[in-house]
Amino acid sequence: MAKIAQRLPENVGDDFYVDSTCIDCDACRQIAPTIFRDHGDQSSVYHQPESEEETRLALSALVACPTGSIGTTRKHDARIGIDAFPTLVSENVYFCGYTSESSFGAWSYLIVRPDREGGNLLIDSPRFSRPLVKKIKMMGGARSMFLTHRDDIADHAAFNREFRAQRIMHAADGAARYGMERVIEGDEAVRLDDELVAIPVAGHTRGHMVLLYRNKFLFTGDHLAWSPVRQTLTAFRSACWYSWPEQTRSMEKLLSYDFEWVLPGHGRIHQDTVAGMRSHLLGCIRWMKTVA
Ligand code: SF4
Repeated sequence: MAKIAQRLPENVGDDFYVDSTCIDCDACRQIAPTIFRDHGDQSSVYHQPESEEETRLALSALVACPTGSIGTTRKHDARIGIDAFPTLVSENVYFCGYTSESSFGAWSYLIVRPDREGGNLLIDSPRFSRPLVKKIKMMGGARSMFLTHRDDIADHAAFNREFRAQRIMHAADGAARYGMERVIEGDEAVRLDDELVAIPVAGHTRGHMVLLYRNKFLFTGDHLAWSPVRQTLTAFRSACWYSWPEQTRSMEKLLSYDFEWVLPGHGRIHQDTVAGMRSHLLGCIRWMKTVA
């Protein structure tokens, strides 16, 4: 819960505010860009909601915030923010909201599918929060859980207990140590079912993987994301824990696949044509080769 005594002085207006516990994860700025801004190393409110929609988005950001750093001085219907998640991204792909501090506010996603098509799948772990768990249950539960890499596993064990979800992770990121039910090994892509391909992309971590769904949606963890500043696809040099040359090589692997969506853990979501995405990916690889 945000504390008014810790309200950051950069906040504008007298209702919604961010307090000093903000870890600058960017979630609120993505969810409600007309309300929250980056004023340096943290976020603050630069514009108070003026419409129902802006209020809904601000309350959604409050619920999604991993550190409970967003507060209000006026009374609002909390259900508005709670009911916002999972939020539809496109078709049957949802953003879970409820980010976790232990994964630094990384975004997680839910694919909703009938059991005959493999059932629902969580990609990376949201915070284990009862309202979210109830909503996921109403949407069919989670039959499996794909964990892109060790940083974003958050409450995987609690989701596994709740839904008996089969967890899938790469051996090189400690899958056995974390008790994963399915361990992917090696560098080769693994077809998980008719619609899902797990692609090992070492770099950010040694055992990082991305997940391709229907040759359309690429869930990229911390491997690849859209940069709103550079307006192209990018990778995070300063947050590359294993090997930048490996990450560059892994990025080239993705040229073999078609996709129209990049859905990252950190960084921004992007949609484009297959050709447009390929062009951005080529640019990203060229740029990565210029960075030491
Ligand atoms: S979501 Fe919370 S932690 Fe993340 S930037 Fe906003 S206020 Fe800070």
